[in-house]
Amino acid sequence: MSDITPQSPCPRAISRVTDPLPPPVVCPHCQSPVDVASHREVYGQDYGSWPWFYLCTGCEARVGIHPKTDIPLGTLVTDAIREARKHSKARFTPLYETGRMTRREAYQALADRLGIPVSECHFGWFDSEMCEKAGKVARELYIAYFNPAPDPVARTPV
Ligand SMILES: [Zn+2]
Repeated sequence: MSDITPQSPCPRAISRVTDPLPPPVVCPHCQSPVDVASHREVYGQDYGSWPWFYLCTGCEARVGIHPKTDIPLGTLVTDAIREARKHSKARFTPLYETGRMTRREAYQALADRLGIPVSECHFGWFDSEMCEKAGKVARELYIAYFNPAPDPVARTPV
């Protein structure tokens, strides 16, 4: 069991991952090589049962790995992108957490307005620019679905 690592992953676990991304080889931010690292090497101890992640040898951008596979959870992120994802996702999740839209409907609406397939509509895949767009779209959707504009006829002056 314990000899399953990103270098010798479990084929069954790999087959269960939807929308898998290829393992990163070169950092998209600084073009340095990317290594597999473990929590123990970087933080001094392991957290959880799958303590592996990809780490850029240059700028230290990083991303987690799906358990028992070599499939990254998203693209390599710098601290700045990680923050941007957190902020845009925080704008988006209320759309379905309120229960007025399903999670699927919310992602479909977001993907449509971003002009991307829903299979690519993952916050873990977004760069800073995409996060900014997604945050804006989420705000627009929120207004459109939850706070409809007043009827223009009613606002026509008499
Ligand atoms: Zn880098």
